[in-house]
Amino acid sequence: MATLNLPAWGYGLRYRYGLFKQRITKEGQEEIAEDWLEKFSPWEVVRHDVVFPVRFFGHVEVNPDGSRKWVGGDTVQALAYDVPIPGYKTKNTISLRLWEARASSDDFNLFLFNDGQYESASQLHSRAQQICAVLYPGDATENGKLLRLKQQFFLCSASLQDIILRFKERKNENRSWKWSEFPSKVAVQLNDTHPTLAIPELMRLLMDNEGLGWDEAWDVTTRTVAYTNHTVLPEALEKWSQSVMWKLLPRHMEIIEEIDTRFITMIRTTRTDLESKLPSICILDNNPQKPVVRMANLCVVSSHKVNGVAQLHSDILKAELFADYVSIWPKKFQNKTNGITPRRWLRFCSPELSDIITKWLKTDQWVTKLDLLVGLRKFAENADFQAEWSSAKMANKQRLAQYILRETGVSIDPNSLFDIQVKRIHEYKRQLLNILGAIYRYKKLKEMNAEERKNTTPRTIMFGGKAFATYTNAKRIVKLVNDVGAVVNSDPEVNSYLKVVFVPNYNVSVAEMLIPGSELSQHISTAGMEASGTSNMKFALNGCLIIGTLDGANVEIREEIGEENFFLFGATADEVPRLRKERENGLFKPDPRFEEAKEYTRSGAFGSYDYNPLLDSLEGNSGYGRGDYFLVGHDFPSYMDAQERVDEAYKDRKRWLKMSILSTAGSGKFSSDRTISQYAKEIWNIEECRVP
Ligand SMILES: *Cc1c(COP(=O)(O)O)cnc(C)c1O
Repeated sequence: MATLNLPAWGYGLRYRYGLFKQRITKEGQEEIAEDWLEKFSPWEVVRHDVVFPVRFFGHVEVNPDGSRKWVGGDTVQALAYDVPIPGYKTKNTISLRLWEARASSDDFNLFLFNDGQYESASQLHSRAQQICAVLYPGDATENGKLLRLKQQFFLCSASLQDIILRFKERKNENRSWKWSEFPSKVAVQLNDTHPTLAIPELMRLLMDNEGLGWDEAWDVTTRTVAYTNHTVLPEALEKWSQSVMWKLLPRHMEIIEEIDTRFITMIRTTRTDLESKLPSICILDNNPQKPVVRMANLCVVSSHKVNGVAQLHSDILKAELFADYVSIWPKKFQNKTNGITPRRWLRFCSPELSDIITKWLKTDQWVTKLDLLVGLRKFAENADFQAEWSSAKMANKQRLAQYILRETGVSIDPNSLFDIQVKRIHEYKRQLLNILGAIYRYKKLKEMNAEERKNTTPRTIMFGGKAFATYTNAKRIVKLVNDVGAVVNSDPEVNSYLKVVFVPNYNVSVAEMLIPGSELSQHISTAGMEASGTSNMKFALNGCLIIGTLDGANVEIREEIGEENFFLFGATADEVPRLRKERENGLFKPDPRFEEAKEYTRSGAFGSYDYNPLLDSLEGNSGYGRGDYFLVGHDFPSYMDAQERVDEAYKDRKRWLKMSILSTAGSGKFSSDRTISQYAKEIWNIEECRVP
């Protein structure tokens, strides 16, 4: 947004601790607190002049005129820290405003303190400090859930108070103004459902503080707010307990009830054909066992635009998750395919490749106009260009090999194929498919004689990613990858043909090292489950070939770079429901290679750890923790066939380089500049505003 000279603000929380630092031990993943603030943060500017109160708990008072007011409870202060985000080669810089929670000084009980009761005297201080203590606090307990809800409301309330104050200040500078102008000056984009409370909070601020009536406040709110959906995984769709919400945010629950009631009335009066759908499309789920607020439904009902983050994902939203809403508001739904910044993900992280691109295109304009990369297509088979391309990739591979040696002690061969899968560890991303493929490859190499091995393509398979601390199967996968690596890498018979490395503590800095050195990357989620993916774009931009399913943005990447330059395998999204049924009904016949890889692992080839519970999740017979929901078994044979095509392609040096160049050349669409321009034009209705 800064680079495109758009007038924008970012809002977030100033967390003390990040997710965690990942260490790998004999037991697998270990989580260590990561202190984001222990070192001085030189760019942030504390704004003691920008402070807003945020209330929790309390109750609603009805005034004599019928208007309502939220009073009582606890109040914490939101203090702003501004982080400048400079655009690339522009004078524009925008602010990322991060809120810190502080207790109000009048909450400090001097009487208790002087009485020697130091803990009780400072109770409110520590309670306020909990809000920004950690990113994604565990939400298994009721306390954890309450803390997350507090974080969400704290962000929404402080940010909206800030936005409204700025609007009023600017408006008061000149003539009279009306609240109906607010949506032409302010667009609020909800990044997933985490900031959904911005909807009832904006309604509350407009009605209870500014005196607007319901209809006027609703018109302003719905013309201001838009929502981006990031996942269709049911377990990731936020649902908050109504009783917790009534306690923490009583006024907001009144407003949500009213939004829901009016929506239901609208359906009953204008869309009787949808009445039977009301139980699933209304906002409040009043199931007596566990009444909840469905945040995604609240977002769809209250936003003027709703978008997914890749074409396939947006199509699935319209056909499935939000299908009934599409028939009510057909023009509300859009697609905004994700993008990545070419500044970080090519120009900065791979100066070698960047220089060659600039040299051959005779311009460095591609850094802000990424479509110019298509100009590389005509050099894809040029021997001089290929030689330069190859040596830049080799320099990046050597740099990566040194990093791996330093971080893991494993020495890898820069002449082997560098095959990388780095992303959060999740069953739907199917790191299990990758490691089972590696296990099968290892077993076959063991069975070969020395001559046969020489005909194979040497590979270094690298994994990286954090498993959420409470996600048992994800942590088992991390352990399995490390155990396989320990056996394979120390096996003198095969370790010049295969290495398996787990790169610890995957984060953006590590990504900037791994991606430029990659030749093949794996984006192998069960079709329909990865909304977009963005690392697929980072890899393709760096001339890395993709082995992948028809999922998320893979579909569009393949279209752009050409299907002959993409190693495709696996079921398609529309086949998945039928295949799951077949597995449940015992109609599935597993491929012998799949059975062999699992059996070898169960036999203890990779140590004494009990991998049966993990592997049982892949068995066809249904039951808790079984049923192969992610279809690893179904896709395994076509995955292994695609891997054979990779090995063959790598043997033909010229062909591989051509494919690599065409990957980069076809990546122009995946610039975040394209994505942001589309949001600006098609959702926010804003234009660039250059600093003179
Ligand atoms: C880009 C990126 C991701 C997203 O990766 P996917 O493979 O698209 O899930 C995750 N973590 C880091 C550190 C990244 O840089």
